[in-house]
Amino acid sequence: MGAVETGKLLINNEWVDALSGKTFSVINPATEEVLGEVAQAGPEDVDNAVRVARRSFEQGAWKKMSARERGKLLYRLAELIERNTQELAELETKNNGKPIRETTGVDVPFVVDTFRYYAGLADKIHGETIPVSGDYFNYTLREPMGVVAQIIPWNFPLLMAAWKLGPALATGCTVILKPAEQTPLTALRLGELIIEAGFPPGVVNILPGFGDAGAALARHMDVDKVAFTGSTEVGKLVMQAASQTNLKRVSLELGGKAPNIVFADADIDAAVQGAIDGIFFNQGEVCCAGSRLLIEQKVHEQFLDKLKTRAESLRVGNPMDHSTEMGAQVSKEQYDKILGFIATGKAEGCRVIAGGAPASDRGYFIKPTVFDSEAGNSTIYREEIFGPVVAATAFKDIDQLLERADHPFYGLSAGIWTSDVKKAHRLAKAVKAGTVWVNCFNKFDAASPFGGYKQSGFGRELGHHAIELYTQVKSVWMNLQN
Ligand code: NAP
Ligand code: MG
Repeated sequence: MGAVETGKLLINNEWVDALSGKTFSVINPATEEVLGEVAQAGPEDVDNAVRVARRSFEQGAWKKMSARERGKLLYRLAELIERNTQELAELETKNNGKPIRETTGVDVPFVVDTFRYYAGLADKIHGETIPVSGDYFNYTLREPMGVVAQIIPWNFPLLMAAWKLGPALATGCTVILKPAEQTPLTALRLGELIIEAGFPPGVVNILPGFGDAGAALARHMDVDKVAFTGSTEVGKLVMQAASQTNLKRVSLELGGKAPNIVFADADIDAAVQGAIDGIFFNQGEVCCAGSRLLIEQKVHEQFLDKLKTRAESLRVGNPMDHSTEMGAQVSKEQYDKILGFIATGKAEGCRVIAGGAPASDRGYFIKPTVFDSEAGNSTIYREEIFGPVVAATAFKDIDQLLERADHPFYGLSAGIWTSDVKKAHRLAKAVKAGTVWVNCFNKFDAASPFGGYKQSGFGRELGHHAIELYTQVKSVWMNLQN
């Protein structure tokens, strides 16, 4: 039996039960069937994992390994993942509910790309020489942060693991990864591939569990850094825990409520498709989803008509079917939360343009939903729903747009649809968001940084920017005077 079937914790390259003996059930959200039982890490397992991660950071094979050798291990891991694409994609789809065409075509290939990118970067991380005043030689060393806790969410389980592990391993850190309670299975399979690739014991430890395991990591005195992706609410708890204990470094990738802005001069059909992809990709369970649609007044009704037709034609259903475009929401909890927002939207008088109801009796399926939120001050326009629900509003001019586009506390991403290049650049500069997409949406690359403004978090993942999250700089002075 493999790690997915036995469902244990990975500590020091060994698969072990939780010390408490506790396990929890993992569900297939499309069928509501139990996929298996997984060991539930508690604070005492966290202690063990941190101990071995510390040991392998300070001594042994990993510590002695050259950056180029670390790169080779990452290349090998990417290769193993690529070879197992089909299996990983199916496992992710079963556990998360997202369509197999996305896990096969987007998630797993991006995971492979991310590990390859950081494999190549591993031996290109270096310090500088600095022309200081006086007869001194000054240089910097860029050193790995140490023992790193990485707490990830359920919306892109394998991909979030890759975004976190890639740069941390490239820099020589050791890791304790905590997957979300809803979606631990691909992390376990990844653990097997990490061992197969040849990573030494203790370098990557994987602890499925609940929020208490995450909290134990965030407050642990011997964790040097915590990288978190999830809700803004829990992000604040993580930062609080870090500040009240050892001031471990923190990076946070949190919620969003992205404006997707459509000008009348845009290619309307392309913008309609962009609005669809922006909100219905991954069932809307995307932190950078284009969940607020701002449409220039002149084309507002025309745009909503087209959007309605397109939204209603999306194929929602069995995620394992290759023609399915939208699968199931991840959990009953998330499903209920989204339906609650839909009810609130209706109660507040927002006009339902499309959807607005469950899409089946079994499994957590919701119809692609479009609301017209009129003045743009409704709950569904303001709050992150994390589901297939978009709130549209019209704007009459640039001033009204600027007033409505920025969110009071989120700033993760934004989309702009226009054929006017000057307007596009001006607005891209004006919008307060970590990523701006012009005439496209949800574009990503392992080389391009991603992260938030405002309470969408701080720190940039991907690209060489992520190296900063896992390293610190030492300044060395040499006296050259006689
Ligand atoms: P969450 O509670 O923020 O979970 C994210 C991760 O943090 C999970 O691994 C979670 O573990 C862990 N965690 C929970 N409590 C913790 C604590 N006190 N200290 C440290 N780690 C802790 O997110 P959620 O409850 O799954 O989803 C709620 C909402 O968050 C969603 O509706 C959505 O709005 C937002 N969200 C955002 C993202 C994003 O990509 N930015 C992703 C997912 C969700 P457990 O899963 O075991 O509780
Ligand atoms: Mg939670």
